[in-house]
Amino acid sequence: MKIFFLCAGVFFSVLTVGCNQPAQQPQEVKTTSIKDSIIPENQSLKHWKVYETVTMKDIEKFGFEKCFCIEEISDKIFSRMKGKSFADNCTLKREDLRYLKLLHYDLNGDIRLGEMVCNKAIAEDLINIFHELFVKKYPIEKIRLIDDYDADDEKSMSDNNTSCFCFRNVSGSNSLSLHALGKAVDINTRYNPYIRTFSNKTVIQPANGEPYCDRSKDFDYKITAEDDCCKIFKKYGFLWGGEWGAYKDYQHFYKK
Ligand SMILES: [Zn+2]
Repeated sequence: MKIFFLCAGVFFSVLTVGCNQPAQQPQEVKTTSIKDSIIPENQSLKHWKVYETVTMKDIEKFGFEKCFCIEEISDKIFSRMKGKSFADNCTLKREDLRYLKLLHYDLNGDIRLGEMVCNKAIAEDLINIFHELFVKKYPIEKIRLIDDYDADDEKSMSDNNTSCFCFRNVSGSNSLSLHALGKAVDINTRYNPYIRTFSNKTVIQPANGEPYCDRSKDFDYKITAEDDCCKIFKKYGFLWGGEWGAYKDYQHFYKK
């Protein structure tokens, strides 16, 4: 399994080990420090309880490299996806997808555990992007699998959930979305809605994103062309739906 190990700072090296397999380190004499003995292992990290908060001390003890990593889709994860985001008519193979473990800051400055399923082609990009967002303390409310919302995009978006893979069509059309290929990510969805006007009718998704359609207003979680989120996604070759012409999808970053 190809996994990324991330050292503290903005430095990566690719190792062929799993998240639960520490990298080979030079032999050294191991002594138990007071710090080791007084900080118990954090169970949220050990069992990767998504949305739980953790401290930097917990992360240091657990291993920072195990908090930003890429895994193949395990049986346990696949059982959550099957018949939901991995719909019965899914044309992707399970082997084409990857499971990401991520950390993110919320608006209160707390560190939360996140998870994401994406196409293996952009897994490395996303690990780098979310690590850079973490370093910048860019606020993201929650990053959970859309399966926790029964793969219902409206439910997930209205809960301001950030997610990637879901085998579905573009809303209101018969063509597959880039989310169906695991190549699009929606960030802080409630505050960055999809807005389309035709025949004097405006569609807003999620519906509770309506107060955030006026982009001249200032509010939390708003994505703009100048903010870190947009800049970092673009650095890795992603495009932003907030810059589309006929309609806007402010939450949507994608790579073809
Ligand atoms: Zn999207």
